Amino acid sequence: MICMFFSKFSIILGSLVFLATPTGGPTFRGSAAFLYTKKAVSYGERPSGSEAISRLREWIVSELKPLKGELSLDSFTGQTPAGPVPMVNIIYKFSGSSGKAIAVSGHYDTKRIPMVHFVGANDGGSSTGFLLEFARTVSAMKHRDDIYIVFLDGEEAVATWTDTDSRYGSRHLAAKWLSEGVVPRIKALINIDMIGDKNLDLSNDGNSSQALRNQVKQIAARLGDSKYFRSEEGGIEDDHLPFINAGVNAIDLIDLDFGPGNSYWHTAGDTIDKLDAHSFQVVGDIVLQLVKELDGQS
Ligand SMILES: [Zn+2]
Repeated sequence: MICMFFSKFSIILGSLVFLATPTGGPTFRGSAAFLYTKKAVSYGERPSGSEAISRLREWIVSELKPLKGELSLDSFTGQTPAGPVPMVNIIYKFSGSSGKAIAVSGHYDTKRIPMVHFVGANDGGSSTGFLLEFARTVSAMKHRDDIYIVFLDGEEAVATWTDTDSRYGSRHLAAKWLSEGVVPRIKALINIDMIGDKNLDLSNDGNSSQALRNQVKQIAARLGDSKYFRSEEGGIEDDHLPFINAGVNAIDLIDLDFGPGNSYWHTAGDTIDKLDAHSFQVVGDIVLQLVKELDGQS
């Protein structure tokens, strides 16, 4: 993504324990999201079309399958400056009964950076780990709306970030959902990116839906998490924008201030030691509450 204005491998899934929240239902576990992220990072550099991202995808699918949702692999070819690249969005749907839908998305590819061993713990890894734990949480939750968990491929530019060299997966899926009539059913799409930073300060994105920004702000205030949000407004270009352009009510939750002077962003410094389970917990609690409110539960 780009900003226009500023610059525990063996997760014990065999013995899942769903902790009750005050309002009932399962909780999001930041520690589990962190461990899923660590596992994703262990696949190494994971650019679109690579052998590593194929293996990562197989693992993501194997983790999703027991959750009793509906898996679809949305395969397409990204026409990149380096030629055609095979890409796959992983879409996991938990069906509801209302006819409406809520989507939670993030990207699982990492940027290919020549001569740099870039493992994208935060950028590509944290969204992957977050979405796996969020899927696990939703699988144990009552909901009226369809809830889509979407792992997007091809967020990163292959050469230089432009409207046509970036966000291949979200552009593809927004067009597909528009043509299939899914867009009018979507109440909201919440995109997650780079949320694992120990020093969490989420952007105040002026490109996101104002209604969702207000709702997130209110939830964060209630949870005592306002301190994790920046006050000054920026304009973020990320995977939410193709959906907004298609008419979807969408928000991006991203911390694009990673390390001193953003020096860990798109560098070899984006490693797991810069991340903290607590940051996943903060974002997970907010997104879970947002999804519940959108679903009409509270
Ligand atoms: Zn990136």
